[in-house]
Amino acid sequence: MRLLVVEDEEDLVDALRVGLVRAGYAVDVAYDAPSAHEKLQVNSYDLVLLDLNLPGGDGFQLCRSVRAAGQGARIIMVTARDRLDDRVRGLDEGADDYLVKPFAFPELLARVRALLRRDSGAGTSVLEVGGLRIDTARLEVSLHGRSLALTPKEYGVLHYLMRRPGHVVSSEELLEHVWDEHADPFTSTVRVTVGNLRRKLQEEGLIETVISRGYRLREPA
Ligand code: CA
Repeated sequence: MRLLVVEDEEDLVDALRVGLVRAGYAVDVAYDAPSAHEKLQVNSYDLVLLDLNLPGGDGFQLCRSVRAAGQGARIIMVTARDRLDDRVRGLDEGADDYLVKPFAFPELLARVRALLRRDSGAGTSVLEVGGLRIDTARLEVSLHGRSLALTPKEYGVLHYLMRRPGHVVSSEELLEHVWDEHADPFTSTVRVTVGNLRRKLQEEGLIETVISRGYRLREPA
């Protein structure tokens, strides 16, 4: 899952980035409203952490433009303002959730997980497809009870596929949602990562290659 952090406090950005990457997310950062706007036009994010007070604009405007563009990204407004009318306005402008600074990082992570699983239909932080089980709160993955040690990208790819079992997911889509903006679109990194993931799964055909279209996680029989 790929997140955009829109925040102008550099220390906070650094802490958020480290924590979110460690939690298995691909993270892009925008330090002001214009660059956030640009990144939102170019990339598709699963979730946006949006500060309200920004250089060059405000979070309300950004929130409106994301919604006006029909983008499905989940939005959590993060701000020092704790006034009730700001919270109400943020939600009315299309934010899905609202967090007041200072906040505890585990709470932010729990809210991110809660919003992201709304789209996957999962009721908890655990996702199961056939014998595959992924615990997004603990970052634990197992297949038929055998635990798997995955790299962050292998984890990201598997998580993305497990949200869409039986659906074909293209390499471009994986690159867009599992890697950050520094990924080279012409690299073979997706193919290599899927290859390594298959080796660790040790189950033939669990991740199918659909010629010239992408990859598909086999649905349980
Ligand atoms: Ca700010």
